[in-house]
Amino acid sequence: MHKRSVRDLDVQGKRVLVRVDFNVPVKDGRVTDDTRIRRALPTVQYLLSEGARPVLISHLGRPKGEPDPKYAMDPVAHHLGELLGEPVVKLDAAVGPEVEEELEKWDGRGVVLLENSRFYPGETKNESDLATQLAALADLYVNDAFGAAHRAHATTVGVAKLLPAAAGLLMEEELDHLDTVLRDPERPFVAILGGAKISDKLGVIESLLGKADLLLIGGAMCFTFLEAKGYEVGDSLVEDDYIEEAKRLMEEAGDRLVLPTDVVVADKMEEGAESRAAEADRMPPGMMGLDVGPDTVDLFGEYIANAGTIFWNGPMGVFEIDAFAGGTEGVARAVAESNATSVIGGGDSVAAVSKLGLEDEMSFISTGGGASLEYIEGKELPGVAVLPDKED
Ligand code: ADP
Ligand code: MG
Repeated sequence: MHKRSVRDLDVQGKRVLVRVDFNVPVKDGRVTDDTRIRRALPTVQYLLSEGARPVLISHLGRPKGEPDPKYAMDPVAHHLGELLGEPVVKLDAAVGPEVEEELEKWDGRGVVLLENSRFYPGETKNESDLATQLAALADLYVNDAFGAAHRAHATTVGVAKLLPAAAGLLMEEELDHLDTVLRDPERPFVAILGGAKISDKLGVIESLLGKADLLLIGGAMCFTFLEAKGYEVGDSLVEDDYIEEAKRLMEEAGDRLVLPTDVVVADKMEEGAESRAAEADRMPPGMMGLDVGPDTVDLFGEYIANAGTIFWNGPMGVFEIDAFAGGTEGVARAVAESNATSVIGGGDSVAAVSKLGLEDEMSFISTGGGASLEYIEGKELPGVAVLPDKED
């Protein structure tokens, strides 16, 4: 990575403001999935072992720019304390004189967790006032919130301009893995794309077409391609406005773009709906394609088994419903078994992999849904761009 790393900073005895991504699901006052907290631990532990005083800040949920007890960080603080085995001092504000006073009084043991950054309207507007108040809390700034790096907010961009700044260890790891995929993939490089919409992923498809040896397409988006080929797709989701675009992409990609040969169809998108496999070019009228079929899983599986690098985004079907989860499961197992370097990005894709308990079988699972896709698209992430380059 060419950005300055937390390891390049002298943090001993310093107060370090760390932007983390603790945007985790909370139910009845408890964290129900702590993946993002666990992924931030290496940076926090590194800082503690180097004698720094970490002051952590994150957003949680979507409060409307004002305090809302529903989105307070207390459950996160509690959970973090359990994982870290160190005291977590949770403050009830993120900036202001009271916070500064509390930090002065802090005995420096463990970490401080500030209140939800989105309790302040200046956060999402990246207001300089808020950034200045944040900068007043610390000597150094570290961004470890890759999942928020595609947003130009006060905690990701504004404050980074006001303090000596660096990337955290998770941020570094994310960028290193995505850079390997983008710049230096071992070949063959097989990209797998699925999920809901072509319109959401057009930039990702274009970018990957320029880099991958093969692009395997499933999910709802495959039906726009199948329709563009003139196939009968029944009532499957088709984005009519993107049919011409799909034709252009297929022409550009030639044999490198691989579509399903069979699909699972049903009359309803429901548990218990009657479903069966159908040829991809002859889907029965009145039925919807909700998953890729078993022949397609075999076909994709062969390409996956021979890959040197795999990037996967987007479930192959409506995996939330068991009857339409087979394609996603089959592809996930093939990726897990492959010797390729495998990088998984995207909220639902990651959820599917973790539902199958296959996280540890993948080389890297990105914590950034939107951020990883924007990075793969080739966009510059504001929270990354603002960090200074390494001095060599
Ligand atoms: P990610 O979050 O990994 O980027 P997306 O958000 O693009 O993925 O898409 C995930 C959603 O796509 C899932 O909710 C899944 O049910 C839906 N989906 C996948 N295949 C189909 C299909 N054939 N028809 C309708 N929805 C689908
Ligand atoms: Mg999603």
